[in-house]
Amino acid sequence: MKRVLITGAAGFLGSHLCDRFIKEGYHVIGMDNLITGDLRNIEQLFVLKEFKFYNHDVSKFVHVPEQLDYILHFASPASPIDYLKIPIQTLKVGSLGTHNLLGLAKSQGARILVASTSEVYGDPTVHPQNEDYWGNVNPIGPRGVYDEAKRFQEAITMAYHTYHGVETRIVRIFNTYGPRMRLNDGRVLPSFIGQALRGEDLTIFGDGSQTRSFCYVDDLVEGIYRLLLSDYAYPLNVGNPDEITIAEFAEEIIKLTGTNQKVVYKALPVDDPKQRQPDITRAKSILGWEPKINRAEGLRITYDYFRSLSKDRLYEEAHHKDFGQYRN
Ligand code: UDP
Repeated sequence: MKRVLITGAAGFLGSHLCDRFIKEGYHVIGMDNLITGDLRNIEQLFVLKEFKFYNHDVSKFVHVPEQLDYILHFASPASPIDYLKIPIQTLKVGSLGTHNLLGLAKSQGARILVASTSEVYGDPTVHPQNEDYWGNVNPIGPRGVYDEAKRFQEAITMAYHTYHGVETRIVRIFNTYGPRMRLNDGRVLPSFIGQALRGEDLTIFGDGSQTRSFCYVDDLVEGIYRLLLSDYAYPLNVGNPDEITIAEFAEEIIKLTGTNQKVVYKALPVDDPKQRQPDITRAKSILGWEPKINRAEGLRITYDYFRSLSKDRLYEEAHHKDFGQYRN
């Protein structure tokens, strides 16, 4: 049985990756320090002997006694409101955390895949974004802590590949949605659905003309799985190119949920990208992959998930509210 270490295991993407690798017959070691992750996302795995969990901050030296075949580095705050609350932790997990995990991969002879992001393209001046575009990032803006950590992550990952010969993979993830997103994480889909379920108005930031392209989580996981097993070491976009404005997206959520609430407009956050759409030509040809689940279907599944949560969770404040201890 092959063994994989997944960091950020209790998070949205990490937990789905844990499920997938268990399903594929791997031993899975999950690691998370739970500042934005939630153990409820992986509670179904704790009964399995193929699953093990370590509560650890990967920004500090990482040691596991087990021999690893693969490492997936998915630990990171991933929503703009998190970057504002825990900016230094965000920088550290993308930089120091990545360094630690590359060191672990090197010492164990394991292959490592790191989670990069469409945010490396910043507020893009090229549309759609292909992997050869270098991006338009403000290093000192509120998103800079995430964007630059991820850009550093790509740089050090390539350096470990070329200098140390470590087997590395880099996935550039575009907006992804699905069950287990945090209702209060501030991102557009859980915000809109949470607002609809609580009977609040839907908040559009700016005039709603900015675009995003949303990928259903199972499609993303399939792309990541294929990339890990491929021999492609350069950054690869994985996302769904079906682009939509945020105003249209709000309309879709209103229809889906049947809410009578209206839309209200709020200030656009600083450096909010105006448009975003992945060019997935390369993923198609290298992985033979493309997304299969359209937005109507993905939104339906996601809405059913949020509806199935207890009422308390709809009103739950961020369970990771005590950020104080992480201000280092
Ligand atoms: N957004 C919005 N209302 C909300 C939350 C987000 O209009 O309640 C907008 C946000 O300004 C951005 C888009 O939706 O233009 C996607 O935001 P999100 O935080 O989900 O992710 P991003 O792609 O910006 O990282």
